[in-house]
Amino acid sequence: MGRVLGDLVAPRRCAACDELLAGRALLCATCATTVERYEGAGEPAAFGLYGGAIAQALRRLKYGNRPDLGPILGMLLRDHVLGRLSGPAVEVVVPVPVPKGRLVERGYNQASLLAAPLVGPLGARFAPLALWRAEGVKQAALGRDERMVNLRGALKVRRPLEVQQRHVLLVDDVSTTGATIEACTSVLIGAGARSVRAIVVARTESGPRDAAEIGCGRMDGT
Ligand SMILES: [Zn+2]
Repeated sequence: MGRVLGDLVAPRRCAACDELLAGRALLCATCATTVERYEGAGEPAAFGLYGGAIAQALRRLKYGNRPDLGPILGMLLRDHVLGRLSGPAVEVVVPVPVPKGRLVERGYNQASLLAAPLVGPLGARFAPLALWRAEGVKQAALGRDERMVNLRGALKVRRPLEVQQRHVLLVDDVSTTGATIEACTSVLIGAGARSVRAIVVARTESGPRDAAEIGCGRMDGT
């Protein structure tokens, strides 16, 4: 893990624990040992399994007012996951939107920060405002089927011309049940996208159906 994570242009502090780093790395040696790569072929493609220092770094990005971690974690996707995408060339990169209230509170969409470093290497367009998400009922209180209905109702393709007839790459931080990506995919296809693939920094090992039983709690993923 140290070799893979060590070749990033990096912060001088560990993304998970703030330990000072001697060289260019994302994580300190201790944190790096907790990272488990996701080796599966399932959708979404992911850098790692949700847990350990990757989960900690993602929580800091999302809840700890650390937007600086977004591009750094995005470079993980760029360097270690983009090459595993199969299918036609990606034409548009679309971050999964956060509800407006949370966007105002947080000041940034973490998925946009993660997505930005992917745009250049793909030769794609960046469409950070293509999707829009209304405030919804708290997902954690709902069962899987209710979540899907709730999510689909809250999502809108605000700029359909940006996705029509194009191969889209959706980007998010975490996927647990897969419901968010499924709902975004559904509305993008409904708006005329030719195809939608998805990429996340961390996901659970099991498929969407199994993960629905686990519940999300603090990780706030769907
Ligand atoms: Zn650390």
